[in-house]
Amino acid sequence: MAITQLIYVSDLVKGQEGEIGAILESAVRHNQQDDITGMLLYREGNFLQVLEGERAQVEATYQRISQDRRHHNLMMLTEEEVPHRHFANWSMGYRQLAAEDVRKFPNYAPYFQFGFQSTKLAGEPGIALDMLEMFSKGML
Ligand code: FAD
Repeated sequence: MAITQLIYVSDLVKGQEGEIGAILESAVRHNQQDDITGMLLYREGNFLQVLEGERAQVEATYQRISQDRRHHNLMMLTEEEVPHRHFANWSMGYRQLAAEDVRKFPNYAPYFQFGFQSTKLAGEPGIALDMLEMFSKGML
């Protein structure tokens, strides 16, 4: 079965920083039921997330996420069919990027140093997947 992979960026609503734990708990709980896998990165008030699974489930999940008032300014970067899951081990992996990551990955720093740069990432959507994969490595 082909897998649909959807990547988007969004902005956390100011004052909602304390909600990230609840967001993750909810994401993992729903995704386990819906056979969705993926990764969520956070940096300086921005999210970058990939969802993958059966198309109808991915689209229903994105629809629910897009109505969540804890974040806004969602911008979908890609939605495409891929032959296999890239984040099969994660109902929803999570990592908050730090200044140390900026130093360690200078090639990617312009895309996340001051939060995820949606316009830059929209112009080069392959970079978003590269970053999600790179930062998921070593987390197991
Ligand atoms: P619960 O998870 O049981 O909600 C618990 C509490 O969270 C509620 O009482 C309320 O205080 C708060 N809450 C829930 N929904 C909202 C809302 N829409 N607006 C404001 N407060 C709310 N869901 C997934 O299923 N998979 C994902 O991968 C996923 N990723 C997310 C990534 C981000 C960046 C964000 C912001 C949300 C994500 N969510 C994800 C959560 C999703 O948006 C819905 O909130 C969730 O699916 C609703 O679950 P629930 O109805 O069981 O509520």
